[in-house]
Amino acid sequence: MNYIVFDLEFNMFFKFKEGDLANPELKNEIIQIGAVKLNEALEIVSSFDLIIKPVIYRRMNPYVKRKTNINTSRVVQGTPFIKAIESFHAWAGDDSVLCSWGHDDILALRDNCLFFGFDAILFDKFINIQQIYMNIGTLAKQPSLESAVESLEIEISTPFHDALSDATYTANIFRKIYDPSCNGIVNWERAQKENEEKIEMLKKYIEKVDIHCPQCNEYVQKNTEVTKSKKYFAFGYCPDCMLQIRHVSRITHRDGEYSIVSNNTIYKTDEAEATANITQELANIKIER
Ligand SMILES: [Zn+2]
Repeated sequence: MNYIVFDLEFNMFFKFKEGDLANPELKNEIIQIGAVKLNEALEIVSSFDLIIKPVIYRRMNPYVKRKTNINTSRVVQGTPFIKAIESFHAWAGDDSVLCSWGHDDILALRDNCLFFGFDAILFDKFINIQQIYMNIGTLAKQPSLESAVESLEIEISTPFHDALSDATYTANIFRKIYDPSCNGIVNWERAQKENEEKIEMLKKYIEKVDIHCPQCNEYVQKNTEVTKSKKYFAFGYCPDCMLQIRHVSRITHRDGEYSIVSNNTIYKTDEAEATANITQELANIKIER
């Protein structure tokens, strides 16, 4: 059995010009897969590094470009996703466990596989190295890769935010902290199902959230409400303060926990403007989905 410690870089939506829209089916498009393979003795035996040609977000988001140092002309020459993921899977081998820093990369890997039509079940066994690190240090907040590298006094020789470089740092953390006798391998499909169940449960509550006037804190009756995916919007009017209230609740995922986060804000008292805002808001919701 091998451990595949991997890291991904993504490109995502950026509004370059009026009318540009994000694709709701794929928010983070993989543009780089970096990985190192460790044997059962946790020795690094090989590495993998590929730039992937994006087809949804072809032009590099300026923030991503600044962070990763990957520009559009480089991704244009990249490997198409399906070809890249096939060679990644062949390189990883059947009897391997995927490992990464946090949940985000495995979730995005799955999203990209689903989107492009690659059977993601091939990557079923998973270790969250960040979770192990947090358990050891009894840390409540998710530490960054950089902070863990510094705390463990791992030599910094290459820049962060390059997939292979980050995968190598993560592998070095893994080698320092992983105890194979206390099995930290999770069945990703099962974990995924549990997460989906939690989200479904929260969805039942999200519409029942009360809305309040942020000025006087009194309960406000809802006059318009919309639920879209993991978001809930409601509008109301506080007769005491004579204010239009806009309420947003969303299901968020932070530090491994799902919860509902709510927010009430004041609209301008001008009724025509408030109505225009609501209409605009509803239009935006449709786009965001
Ligand atoms: Zn009020």
